[in-house]
Amino acid sequence: MIVMKTHTNDLTPVSWFLFRDGKILTQIIHTDTSSICTATPQQLEMQPTFSRYIGSYNKTTYFVAELPQSTQAPQGMEFRSIRSLFGSVDDTLFTLIGRAIQILHWNNEYKFCGKCGAAMEDKNNEFAKQCPSCGLISYPRISPAVIMSVLRDKHILLARSPHFPKDMYSTLAGFVEPGETLEEAVKREIFEESSIEVDNIEYVASQPWPFPHSLMIGFSATYAGGDIQIDDREIEDAGWFTVHNLPKLPSKISIARLLIDNFIENSSK
Ligand SMILES: [Zn+2]
Repeated sequence: MIVMKTHTNDLTPVSWFLFRDGKILTQIIHTDTSSICTATPQQLEMQPTFSRYIGSYNKTTYFVAELPQSTQAPQGMEFRSIRSLFGSVDDTLFTLIGRAIQILHWNNEYKFCGKCGAAMEDKNNEFAKQCPSCGLISYPRISPAVIMSVLRDKHILLARSPHFPKDMYSTLAGFVEPGETLEEAVKREIFEESSIEVDNIEYVASQPWPFPHSLMIGFSATYAGGDIQIDDREIEDAGWFTVHNLPKLPSKISIARLLIDNFIENSSK
């Protein structure tokens, strides 16, 4: 379990995640594998521009630091995107790294008060910044998005957006709008993008998606009416697929794949 206190005074072992320009410092083990470098900035003689405690896991205390753009990776190390690390690091560690990068984004994007323009200051004992001039408090930004499988008999509704890799299809998804319940967001997104109506909306799982600050909330729903008519500003194709004619699918990193794998498993029962 990750313990996410907002500060620490513990004398437990410490590990650091060192980022430069959104990429994390890793040790090269051999050509296609890396492991996270958890050395302190001092050990590497690096001067972070920002650092912060982010949580404890397995009796280790974790910190994140941002390094200047000019920082070179030491010999035997390289800066890598966090997406590229999925599957090669422990899931809980991956979650902590996701938390680290979300905190860095927040620090970089909320330096000044959105109300009066003064420089924000870290708030004690809380993941928050406060404006010393007008008192406005800013919390790390988290954007909830719904993602859902739509099932019809032995079929699943999948769609592809123009920026997907060639031939890949996935479940529909979209950001929750102000004043909307999650279930309303599910119905609206599916209808907007495909003209399909759904019911029996059931929660499945959620996943922090730190690219840069989404929280994906996964649902399943069943077909209730309509014919597919796509919104071609968002997607370029959509269709009903069975387990026997599935297109290329998203990688295991995504909750979309979990929803599709659930469909595959239930279809073979
Ligand atoms: Zn202010």
